[in-house]
Amino acid sequence: MHTFQFVRPTDPATAVATAAQAKTAQQGADVRFLAGGTTLIDLMKLNVETPARLIDINQLPLDQIEATPDGGLKIGATVRNSDLAHQPTVQRDYAVLSQAILAGASAQLRNVATTAGNLLQRTRCVYFRDTAMPCNKREPGTGCPAITGSNRTLAILGASDHCIATHPSDMAVAMAALEATIYVQGSKASRAVPIGEFHLLPGITPERETVLEPGDLITHVTLPPPAAASKQVYLKLRDRASYEFALASAAVVITIDRGSVTRARIALGGVGTKPWRSPEAEAALVGQPADQTHFRRAAEAALRGAKPQSENGFKIELAKRCLTHALQMAATA
Ligand SMILES: Cc1cc2nc3c(=O)[nH]c(=O)nc-3n(C[C@H](O)[C@H](O)[C@H](O)COP(=O)(O)OP(=O)(O)OC[C@H]3O[C@@H](n4cnc5c(N)ncnc54)[C@H](O)[C@@H]3O)c2cc1C
Ligand code: SF4
Repeated sequence: MHTFQFVRPTDPATAVATAAQAKTAQQGADVRFLAGGTTLIDLMKLNVETPARLIDINQLPLDQIEATPDGGLKIGATVRNSDLAHQPTVQRDYAVLSQAILAGASAQLRNVATTAGNLLQRTRCVYFRDTAMPCNKREPGTGCPAITGSNRTLAILGASDHCIATHPSDMAVAMAALEATIYVQGSKASRAVPIGEFHLLPGITPERETVLEPGDLITHVTLPPPAAASKQVYLKLRDRASYEFALASAAVVITIDRGSVTRARIALGGVGTKPWRSPEAEAALVGQPADQTHFRRAAEAALRGAKPQSENGFKIELAKRCLTHALQMAATA
């Protein structure tokens, strides 16, 4: 691993001022925040990430989970994934989030991984993680070998001719269905970003994964008050039962009244270049009977724009079945 400078600021403003010296936006930048390190240190060992300076943010006061005045929840950026998944309010009112986190990684990893780090974890595309290979995301302009190569696990929604990498997070998919808001402290101002606008599609700049600018520190994430009487399910399909990323997953938050769906929030994982909210599936559900026929129709709508690569066409049907089954599970919960 290359050498780097290590700093431990004790307040967010100093952390942001230090990070603002980076030449580029956070991901891939030469000055980086370090939270749990389960993505960043991993990639530094592979020489995929080579920051000159690391800013340890673990001692900043960003590790609390608190109720908000409007009845929602505020989750600090350095709250550990395990603590979040087992927090009583999360288990009761935001069960889809708890389930999604517990479906990811391993207990040991979840004990150190953080809220912000999870949102910013990087793709598991094998070419991205191998510096002997070209990769537009790691080295812009070098090409995307995945398009003609190994792409079984990669995206069928939101891809471009420059990158087809999947966003790997489970937690972020649940947060998309819960309509989370991400709070960012920058060197000039603070701002709130709805999760749907936080991650970027690859387009012609796959190296740019989020709206974060140099110095931007995620301070916390908020969830709106829980939808009354909602039923929530996170269903993850993968090659083995644990310690594996999703081939397809579905986060479902639905309300059913007298047999009909009155409200639906749907997001998919494992299939998109970003956590994939599906307004198409939501529109197909609301006002319709909560039955298998309409659940399948919603899944068809969610995958209508899917574009398979050479090895991952199976994901289209897999994702449809995943969403249909998740809706069925929620309806009968
Ligand atoms: C073997 C293995 C299996 C895994 N399986 C899964 C899985 O099944 N599902 C899943 O969802 N995830 C999985 N993960 C990924 C894991 O969830 C992430 O590595 C973890 O959530 C990252 O959090 P962290 O705190 O360790 O991030 P770090 O590695 O510390 O940071 C990640 C990135 O976020 C930036 N960053 C961190 N905090 C902030 C902040 N506050 N503001 C701005 N930037 C910040 C860092 O600079 C870095 O770019 C797996 C990881 C491993 C190693
Ligand atoms: S899919 Fe994206 S991350 Fe993978 S090789 Fe292509 S450009 Fe790189």
